[in-house]
Amino acid sequence: ATVPSTLTFDSRFARDLPELALSWQAEDVPDPRLLVLNEPLAAELGLDPAWLRTPEGVRLLVGNLLPEGAAPVAQAYAGHQFGAWSPRLGDGRALLLGELHDAAGRVRDLHLKGSGRTPFARGGDGLAAVGPMLREHVVSEAMHALGIPTTRSLAVVATGRPVRRETVQPGAVLARVAAGHLRVGTFQYARSRGDTGLLRRLADHAIARHHPGAAAAEHPHLALFDAVVAAQASLVAQWMHVGFIHGVMNTDNTTISGETIDYGPCAFMDAHDPATVYSSIDLGGRYAYGNQPVVLQWNLARLAEAMLPLFDEDQDRAVALAEEVLGTYPARYGAAWTDGMRAKLGVPGADDDDVAPLLEELSALLRDNHVDHTSFFRGLGAAARGDARPARDLVLDLARFDAWAERWRSLGPDAELMDRVNPVYVPRNHLVEEALAAAVAGDLDPLGRLLEAVTRPFEPRPGLERYAEPAPGDFGASYQTFCGT
Ligand code: AMP
Ligand code: MG
Ligand code: MG
Repeated sequence: ATVPSTLTFDSRFARDLPELALSWQAEDVPDPRLLVLNEPLAAELGLDPAWLRTPEGVRLLVGNLLPEGAAPVAQAYAGHQFGAWSPRLGDGRALLLGELHDAAGRVRDLHLKGSGRTPFARGGDGLAAVGPMLREHVVSEAMHALGIPTTRSLAVVATGRPVRRETVQPGAVLARVAAGHLRVGTFQYARSRGDTGLLRRLADHAIARHHPGAAAAEHPHLALFDAVVAAQASLVAQWMHVGFIHGVMNTDNTTISGETIDYGPCAFMDAHDPATVYSSIDLGGRYAYGNQPVVLQWNLARLAEAMLPLFDEDQDRAVALAEEVLGTYPARYGAAWTDGMRAKLGVPGADDDDVAPLLEELSALLRDNHVDHTSFFRGLGAAARGDARPARDLVLDLARFDAWAERWRSLGPDAELMDRVNPVYVPRNHLVEEALAAAVAGDLDPLGRLLEAVTRPFEPRPGLERYAEPAPGDFGASYQTFCGT
């Protein structure tokens, strides 16, 4: 069996950074069965979807059939997990198959998750289960459709191998596509090796791959740090707009590219509350919805620390340079967040002085009344057209809503703009659970319908009404998500 001759993988990561690349092969998959294939993404990558559905194509998607010259690697990285330093994490159950040039000429990583134990696996089994990999597929594709930078899911293939979790689950491999897999933790790993040459090569690789504009700066490595701060500030602001809770914002899950990565315990918030935590292991609420911006700042400070030797030979001077860039974060994050919120309220030209108190009051109003985040903002579009009911009916304290809405309406909201930025459909927790339970039991139809809804999130369509509705009252208060499953 062979792969089409047009399909070739580059290995620039391994060539540039051999210290971070460990040659490794995917485990043999006994009985691969394609569960979902992302045809538009396949086409973007110049891959023929019809071929990917053949037995050879499916073997490619689990790493058991490779183009000639391909050299898969497990990538080394370190990281702070819940604030605690881990000097050696790395791809314990993942592999970088190679880099492809997509139809637009961009370099994209093709990566596997659940492809077997690697030397980075520590106590893990190297495997992944069908439910969590389909979850990553749905949520990452929803994020992409919302216009939020993210890794993508090309396919999920069931392996036929059982995976032992709390119960025995069917196993799967996810084929993930990303602008790249460099993380803050990659820089932390390089720094901890004490090899400034390696750190410099890593920074140069990151510039070439993700932030080419930095190359022309007077100080390219400081410009790289600045570009990561900008990309991540914008990313997390976008999470906040749609109510996305990442759930495990460890430094190894914070990318250099500015894409969302690692869909483990993530979830979209139902009732608006900054204290919302869904992850079963986030006992202290470190990664609660409302903490995400400040956690990102902490992670960016760890990146700065790792990069210090590149900023200046004089480390006091290096710290001063890093602090200067890091000091811009609150204002940059704040501007990104406020701009997006202005659009959500349909008042893009409104003054900060008018909008800031309105936003503050709104967050308290939504929290105190347990208002569904997604439905409320979408409903406000109708309110801008004169029908307050869809938003107002979600609020118990009607007088408080009416007072707020009167101030908001006086700013002249633009309903059309609102409908372009406030989604009708996000992967709501109860719908995700329902679709995954059915899929694991062999029925992929609910998953297909959920995907249909969330991949065109701004267009209400007949037949998908229940996908636009808040969770039933008996769902949610104790909803939990899980990592590393
Ligand atoms: P995460 O919490 O998903 O960011 O993963 C943290 C680390 O645990 C990474 O080094 C992963 O490769 C590793 N890991 C997670 N699950 C497994 C598993 N089932 N087998 C081996 N390594 C794993
Ligand atoms: Mg991770
Ligand atoms: Mg993970």
